[in-house]
Parts: sequence; C-alpha cells; structure tokens
Amino acid sequence: MDKLIRVENITKHFDLKSSFISLGSAAAVKAVDDISFDVYKNETLGLVGESGCGKSTLGRVILRLIEPTSGSVFYEDINVNLLKPEELRRFRTKMQIVFQDSYSSLNPRHKVGEIIAEPMTIHTDMSRREIRERILELLSLVGLKAGHASRFPHEFSGGQRQRINIARTLALYPSFIVCDEPISALDVSIQAQVVNLLKDLQKKLGITYLFIAHDLSMVKHISDRIAVMYLGKIMELATSRELFINPLHPYTQSLISAIPIPDPKKERLRKPIVLEGEVPSPVNPPSGCVFHTRCPVAGDLCSQEIPEYCEIGPNHFVSCHYAGERRAAEINYL
Ligand code: SF4
Repeated sequence: MDKLIRVENITKHFDLKSSFISLGSAAAVKAVDDISFDVYKNETLGLVGESGCGKSTLGRVILRLIEPTSGSVFYEDINVNLLKPEELRRFRTKMQIVFQDSYSSLNPRHKVGEIIAEPMTIHTDMSRREIRERILELLSLVGLKAGHASRFPHEFSGGQRQRINIARTLALYPSFIVCDEPISALDVSIQAQVVNLLKDLQKKLGITYLFIAHDLSMVKHISDRIAVMYLGKIMELATSRELFINPLHPYTQSLISAIPIPDPKKERLRKPIVLEGEVPSPVNPPSGCVFHTRCPVAGDLCSQEIPEYCEIGPNHFVSCHYAGERRAAEINYL
C-alpha cells in the first residue's frame, strides 16, 4: 500500500516557563514523545487514548497547526515542516480537520452557505456561481438539502451541524482529514450515522482519515488500523482485527476488556482489567516504560528501561519489553 503521511520521530513539548505557575526552568508538558508511524492512502487510522494522552496535539502537529519540538511530517515526499508560509497556505487544501465541537466551530452569525463557501473564497479564485454550485453539491454529499444553505447553525441538531462541518472540510477536495473526536459530543443514535457518512465519503472520494477518539469501541467500526496512545507515546499499532483478536500490550488489553459485549452470556463472563491509580502527569512522566506505574504485569526492567517500539508481527507494532515473550507464549490477559 502507498503511504500518504509519514510521521517521523515527532515530539511536542509545551514549555511551562512562561506560565503563571512556575515549575522550574526546565518544566514542560511532554504531550507527544518521539512518535513515528505511516498512514496509507485511502485508509482510516484510528488514534485512541485517554483524555490528555496527546492524541489531539499529535493531530494538530501533523496538520502543522502547531509546530513540533522535533521530528518531521511528510505528505508523500513533501516535508510539511519545511514549507514556507505561502506554500503552506496552498498546501492546506490537501489536509483538513473536522473538530469535535460542531457548535463552536461554526460561526453562529453566518448562514450555512457562507460557512461552506469560506474556504473556497479564501483559497481559490472560483466565481460566485461556481461556489454556489459547489455548496449545493457539498450539501447533497453530506445528506443535507439545498434549502439548508440559507439557515443559521443554531437551527440544526448536533448531527446536522457535524454534517455542515464535514461539508466545509470537503470544500477544497482534501485527500487527508484529521477527524478530532468528531462523534464524541453526539448522541449515541447519531454517532453511527456520522461514522457511516464518513465511510461513504471515503469510498466515493478516496479520502484518507486519521480518526481520533478516546473510546476504542468507537474507532473499531471505522478504522482499518488502530494506534493506542498513552502519555504521549504509541503503545500498540495493528490492524483493527489483529488488535482486537490478539492485543499484546497490557494497556490495550485493559481497554478492550472494558468494552461491554452485546451478548448477555458473554457479557456475564467478561472480566474487566481495572488499572490501579491515576494517569501520571505528562510534566513528569515515569521513567522507563511510562505505563509501568499502572501496568498489572510490570517487571523489574520496566521502571529502568524504555521499551523499544518494534514490529512484533506483520504490521503489528508494540512498545513493551515482554510483548515478544507474550506473543510466543500466546499469553493474553483477557
Ligand atoms: Fe507493562 Fe513493562 Fe510492558 Fe510497560 S514494558 S507495558 S510496564 S510489562
């Protein structure tokens, strides 16, 4: 499969020196720490982790909405971090984002048609007629009616507002979209509709998604592959099927064990792995494996050495000292 996005050793630290709480000169929030992965053309890569694990920061760094502390992001062979401001402005048409909060990301004083037209007005020299035609085409693509163009955002439900957001995101024919928790704020009944819409659009338009969510069950149905993040690092990355059948990282195993099973008999037998303690602060992450303070199977080595993030099987990457042994012994804590 062809790679569309290459993330190479991306690190993002937020300096706390200038904050009103002084934590010493070297204090920094280590939001993303030395992460590398590829996103293939036309796939959906799910990115999952608890709030504050750095997944949204990573999404923004990939789009260069914020600059990394170190590392590079490549779009095909183009180093996005080396683009000059004018080049970056033109390049933005290829890479877009759908935000979680569909209400605050839409200007309440603008009509839907104006909102969808905005990126075309800024980035293209399309005529008013062409823009009008494109607005109607986009509304139809996301399942809305032509008449909706003259209404205001507050006249729509949360699901419809997210459709408007998606229409605006598609206006410039992007090939890569970061979906930053696009369904987290929606009712459960609406979430499936938006996921199905995103899947349909991918099929029709050949888009590649990075789909960010805090809930593993949420990304399961849309993702071809899933990356699990914890405290700024990727713990495990595999195809969705492999991750659910053969999770090798204790953190992934605990997340999967927490998902309710819709079959009452199986649900009665489910034994959730409950992790002890709180997620440590990203200002002062634990030494060695960042998960060792909560890992139910941590060994002596875990607090001393950072585990290597390595490919343990075809397209299955894990960051755990004992993943190889676990795979060989087919030990699964679920
Ligand atoms: Fe647990 Fe150690 Fe593996 Fe980290 S390296 S996940 S602490 S067993």
